[in-house]
Amino acid sequence: MDSIITIDGPTGSGKSTVSHLLAERLNYRYLDTGAMYRAFAIAVLDANVNLHDINEIEETCNAIDIRFVREGELTKVLLNDKDVTKKIRHPSVDLFASNVSGLDIVRQTMVRLQRKEGVKGRLVAEGRDMGTVVFPDAKHKFYLDASMELRVTRRFLERQKRGESVSRKKVKEDLIKRDHQDMNRRLSPLKPAKDATIIDTAPLDINQVVEMIIKEIKGANTER
Ligand code: C5P
Repeated sequence: MDSIITIDGPTGSGKSTVSHLLAERLNYRYLDTGAMYRAFAIAVLDANVNLHDINEIEETCNAIDIRFVREGELTKVLLNDKDVTKKIRHPSVDLFASNVSGLDIVRQTMVRLQRKEGVKGRLVAEGRDMGTVVFPDAKHKFYLDASMELRVTRRFLERQKRGESVSRKKVKEDLIKRDHQDMNRRLSPLKPAKDATIIDTAPLDINQVVEMIIKEIKGANTER
């Protein structure tokens, strides 16, 4: 577990960009577990699965194959061999991924797949429950956060950059709803692990956050 770094936090905390960069800097693999829940949501939508039918959900879990394929700078997400990289980022998937992620069997399936990646070591694992549930014994745990207003701004700019016409008000509403759902669900709610370092990303740029994390990891490794 020495070579697993967990990065958790809410939407807009900067965790994806930081995790990606951190993995590059350390030459670690990067596991985007949010993308996995999003891909699962697409599988459910595409097959018209009834979320209230446990057998249908179980069938989807048993048949799911999610792979990340690096293509230069880009990492493609393949769902049962189909490229869903763009599709999983559609705003309509945001809340639906959060809905499916609250189901017990779905979490069990994802956690199993995520731990399989962990066994290979040298991994930056990014998500909501990496430090609390999936890799509780990871040596290096971080929880990134920022004020609501800043997270809304980041998310708003991100969606604008993608060419979406969306109001800041709507972005804020969506974010509050998803935060609430992710933080208050029964299973693996979003919260910092007790032994995680909490970083407020507001006063820092991305490189500063990455530097801070690397410094902390190095410090922890020389303490041994
Ligand atoms: O991080 P991202 O916004 O892509 O995650 C989409 C959704 O997947 C989250 O809102 C959350 O409900 C769920 N998720 C989760 N556990 C993780 C990662 C994501 O429940 N480890």
